[in-house]
Amino acid sequence: MASQDLTASIRRRGLMLVLSSPSGAGKSTIARNLLKSDPSLELSVSVTTRPRRGSEIDGVHYHFLSQREFERSRETDGLLEWAEVHGNYYGTPREPAEAAMAAGRDMLFDIDWQGAVQLDEKMGTDIVSIFILPPSMGELKARLMRRAEDSLESIERRLYNAKLELEHWREYDYVVVNDDLDRAFSAVKAIVAAERLRRDRRPGLFDFVSGLLDEKV
Ligand code: 5GP
Repeated sequence: MASQDLTASIRRRGLMLVLSSPSGAGKSTIARNLLKSDPSLELSVSVTTRPRRGSEIDGVHYHFLSQREFERSRETDGLLEWAEVHGNYYGTPREPAEAAMAAGRDMLFDIDWQGAVQLDEKMGTDIVSIFILPPSMGELKARLMRRAEDSLESIERRLYNAKLELEHWREYDYVVVNDDLDRAFSAVKAIVAAERLRRDRRPGLFDFVSGLLDEKV
């Protein structure tokens, strides 16, 4: 008989896990593996004005919006944060994120540093931010070329922007170098496991410890 996971059953607040990196550093693969290995983690699906890539599904990878739809969402306070990245607009829909937090569920945000700063200002202690670094700029370029889903012009722009993005590494709680995908993934999983155990994130501990103290042995 499977035993109940007592640690997981102690009530805690939801975690807002922010993953950022320059395009091509492997963040999306790490995010995908994390979601697959951890069913209690939910992805925040962003809205964007960027054209859909061939492999992407509307509503799964992004909600693809026109410029006008994006502006409407922003102006009606529908976005928790938004930013212009590589010449396109991206934003985090407010409603699903607030619902997850209210219910104590964990959510993963694949957003850039501008979004991370805005979420940090609004959500404070519920945020855990991780910055993924590429092992070298040469490898970053090679990964962008291998992906071959963006135009050459877009790859050049992403490389240029990568350096601007890298300058923000100090603003994150954790920094992981992705020289080996399995190793980087393990490091991210360890961070999530430790952050879930933080005392100040677990109001349910009060009752649990009170129960221990009341127990007659
Ligand atoms: P891509 O076009 O490669 O999917 O994403 C480009 C960059 O935009 C990535 O760094 C990604 O993390 C970031 N991004 C995606 N969604 C959002 C969002 O909702 N807000 C912000 N600020 N950045 C986002």
